[in-house]
Formats: sequence, C-alpha cells, structure tokens
Amino acid sequence: MTAIKTALKTHFGFESFRSQKQEDAVKAVVKGDRDVFVCMPTGSGKSLCYQLPAMLAKGITLVISPLIALIQDQVEHLRDLNIPACSINSKLPVEDRRLIMADLESESPKLKLLYVTPEMVASPGFKPCLTGLLSRSLLSYLAVDEAHCVSQWGHDFRPDYLKLGELRSSLPGVPCIALTATAPQRVKDDIAKSLRLRLPLSFATPVFRSNLHYDVVYRELLEDPYRHLHTYIRENLRLGDGPKGQGCGIVYCRTRECCETVAYQLTKLGVLAKPYHAGLKAVDRTEAQTDWMQGKVLVIVATISFGMGVDKANVRFVAHWNVAKSLASYYQESGRAGRDGLPSSCRTYYSPRDKEQLNFLIRKEVARKQAKRGSEKEQDKSSIKDFEAMVSFCEQESCRHATISNFFGDQKPDCGSACDYCQDPKAVRAQLEKAATLSTKTGAAQSTQPRGPFGFDRDLYAGGRKGYGFERHDEEETWGSGDDDDGSELRRKEFGDLFKKQMKLRKVSEGHKNSFVRPDDNCPLKEASSQKIPRL
Ligand code: ADP
Repeated sequence: MTAIKTALKTHFGFESFRSQKQEDAVKAVVKGDRDVFVCMPTGSGKSLCYQLPAMLAKGITLVISPLIALIQDQVEHLRDLNIPACSINSKLPVEDRRLIMADLESESPKLKLLYVTPEMVASPGFKPCLTGLLSRSLLSYLAVDEAHCVSQWGHDFRPDYLKLGELRSSLPGVPCIALTATAPQRVKDDIAKSLRLRLPLSFATPVFRSNLHYDVVYRELLEDPYRHLHTYIRENLRLGDGPKGQGCGIVYCRTRECCETVAYQLTKLGVLAKPYHAGLKAVDRTEAQTDWMQGKVLVIVATISFGMGVDKANVRFVAHWNVAKSLASYYQESGRAGRDGLPSSCRTYYSPRDKEQLNFLIRKEVARKQAKRGSEKEQDKSSIKDFEAMVSFCEQESCRHATISNFFGDQKPDCGSACDYCQDPKAVRAQLEKAATLSTKTGAAQSTQPRGPFGFDRDLYAGGRKGYGFERHDEEETWGSGDDDDGSELRRKEFGDLFKKQMKLRKVSEGHKNSFVRPDDNCPLKEASSQKIPRL
C-alpha cells in the first residue's frame, strides 16, 4: 500500500478515495510542484484534498476559510479524528491562543492544520507567526477554501479574499490549493487570476449529479401550498407508512419572516420544523442547527445564511419556497441534497410574483452599487443575467439538468428521468400553460393592490426595512434584510408554544419516534390553527 493510501486509512478511516478526481487531486498536491485547483460539487470530499497531504507533510498547512462557524466545524471534525488542527480567531480565549502560538514557535510543532479567516491572516498580529513558519520551512501548503469568495462574479464575494493574492505571492515556495464548489468558467478564471495561482493543475468533476431529481412547481397553481409542501416532505422522508426517520431536509426561503411562517405552517401540519435566519438570537440559531444536525428536527426552514459548510450526508430534499437569486446559488443550495449519493429531491416552488420581487431587488441593489461607485461594472450586468438564468430554468420547457450543466459550461448530461421535464414533458407544458392563463386572469386583480412608487407592492418597496431582502451567507452581513418588524417577537413566541405542544404530542404519540405527528389525529392543532397565522 502506498503512503497516501495508508494515511487515508489511518488518519481518516477511509478504505478508498471517493472518486478518481479526489485521488488525482491528492496525489498532485502531495507531489507539490504545481498549484492545484479543485472544483467539485459540495459534498464530494474536497477538504481531503488538502487535509490528507497536510498529514504527510513535515510542517503546517495554513487553511483560509471565510467563516468562523465553518472553521469550528472543520476543526472539531478533525479533532474527532485525532488530527492536530486548530484555529486562531477573534473568539479564541487568550490562554488557548498562547498555547497555539507556543506550539507554532516550537522547533517541531505538533499542529498539522491551522485554520484562519482572510481577515485574520491579513492582520498585523498574525504576520510574525507566518514569517516565523516560513523562515523555518514549516509552511507546507496554503489552502484557500470556498475560493469563489475571491471572485466578484461569484455570489459570495468577500473583499478580504482579494488580499489573498498578495499573500500567495509572498509565499513563493509554498504550493497553493484553491477549492471551490462548481463554478461558472468566468468565476474559475477569476479565482486563478486573483489568487495568482501558478500554472494550476485543475481537478473538476462533472456538474451532473444523477441522484438528484429536479422539479419546479408553480406555487400559485396550488390550492394549499403548505399542505403540498407537507406532502412532499413526507414523501421524501418516507414517513407515514414506510420505514421511519430516514434523512432530513431543508426548505429555503428568501426572508426571515417567510422562514418563520413556513416553519409555523409545517409544524401546524405535523412536521416539526425550525426556522433559521440571521434575525434570530445566536443561541436559537445554534440550537436550530444542532437539533437538525442531530436529527431531533427533520426540517430546517432557512434563509441562505444556513448551509455553507453544513456537512450532512442524508439530506433527502432541498425545497426552495422562493426562487433562488441565481442559477449558481441554486446549484450550490440544492446540491446540499444527496451527498451520500442516494436518490434525493430538489424542488423550486416557483412564483412569478417572487420573480417580480427579486428582479426588483436585484436591480435596486445594482443601481445602489452603481450610484455609490459612479460607474457601471460588468458584474452588475452579470448578477441580472445570473438571475435570468434561474428564471429560465423555472420557465423553460427543457431538461433541468441540461440547463444547469450548460450554465457551468459542461456537456449535456444523460438525465434519464432525473427531472420533471425528462420524466413527463407534457405535464411541464400543462403547468406552464395553466400558469400563463392564471397570470392573464389575475393581472387585472393584482393591479388593484396598493403599490409603491415604482409600481411594485408597498411591502416590497419597504424591502430593506421590513426584512424582504436577501440574507447573505456570512451571518454578520445582511443585504437589504434589516430589522424584523415589531411583530417578530410575538410571532416567535406563538411559534415556540406551538412547537412545544407538538413536541409533547410527539412524545406521547404511540410508535412515532421520529419528528412527525399525525396531524389529523391531534385535536390541539385545531386550536392552533385558529390562532393568528403569521403573514407570508
Ligand atoms: P466538500 O468540501 O466537497 O463539500 P467535504 O470535504 O466536507 O466535502 O466531504 C464531504 C463528506 O465526505 C465528509 O463527511 C467526508 O468525511 C466524506 N469523505 C471525504 N472523502 C471521503 C472518502 N474518500 N471516502 C468516504 N467519505 C469521504
């Protein structure tokens, strides 16, 4: 057995590589004569591409990652494997920091992987640590995780990532590994350029994931959208008549308020679901995530602030209650389903009204940026184009997988029946026709709604103030999703009471060991349903 295979087994407990690409990437990193660019879907095991080489190298691998929460997850996971990894961050107690620094300054440090944010690596306090390691030839690799954050074309642009190009130049003898989930070609080019990668060897897996089934359901055509979602969840978690407690799921919503409404409605129908968004107290957010990770709650209803780096293999479905803001984001978010390779479902509950709202918000944001800069930039047009790609994905009569692969510059895949269109094109057409008829009929009715100065609904116009905008992945920063309105505390209390009631029912409900109760059997729900329901 080679040293690489032995290390794979002894340090990580894996018998084999997940894919040929993973193995090739690890070998290229270990060889160390070229920079390496790993572009693989979420869940394909990118981290191993630098973690395994880190274990085989003499020194320390410096890993740049965008979020402290993400770093903590990684470090904990590595420590569970007895791999010496740690992070230096602003939340670290002074004593821990002192111990880490002492190890880094020692002749032969025990640490193998050191995780930091881009802000930390650029801070003056961190510089001596870096130069110290470099002068003793103890810096084995520089790994840049979530490298798409360096690209202004990407959906998670972080200005601090731009400084990493300079860092890379200041470490000429240290091989760099950039890692990102599947990205469009222009983002990949931008990453290589901005990080100043030297003749990088690229390892990319195909965009197409045959275990994911994509479909689009027009929300406005549904009589009872929440019940529809509820049925979808039950089917995908194979609960009810079949084997119980298999997997979990994510419902993405655009706004905080919507998360709470959908979680409330699902819980009312008998699915224990928790909301997750940046407007919650940190402790509630952490609890929601932990409950979901541990399977206590099967469904999390979240804004996009949830999910980056969430490593859960058995996500059986990802439903978008609101359309995603770009096809690239959608691929990332929906790609959290089926990491274990088992059949999983990705659904968008599409609504032309959502489209209108998002279109407005995106253009408003673009206009704001342009006004601030005083000029137009290419990426402004790009965010509009990326959204249009998402809209086409929902409105086109064509294979959903082919649309995604085409967007990322990949070849047309052999979908088989892994999307609604390839499964039943007539049904997709029928849905589109019904939606067109409905929009003609309701057009007049809609125009009687109170509208803002730009012709949009007042609620939407009030976007930033009332929490109708987007949330970004990085929790500290929100985009147009300001403070919640005054009713939020009340709503949360109402939801909390209902949740507790459902929990109790679950405990007493005979034979129901999973997060479901039979709604129809439980009268107290009637009581709950007569309560004031939060507005969507
Ligand atoms: P990514 O960064 O691509 O989203 P991760 O590195 O978080 O993916 O890996 C996803 C999951 O796959 C993790 O649970 C990891 O332990 C597992 N994994 C990685 N490599 C292998 C392998 N060779 N065999 C089995 N599981 C693996």
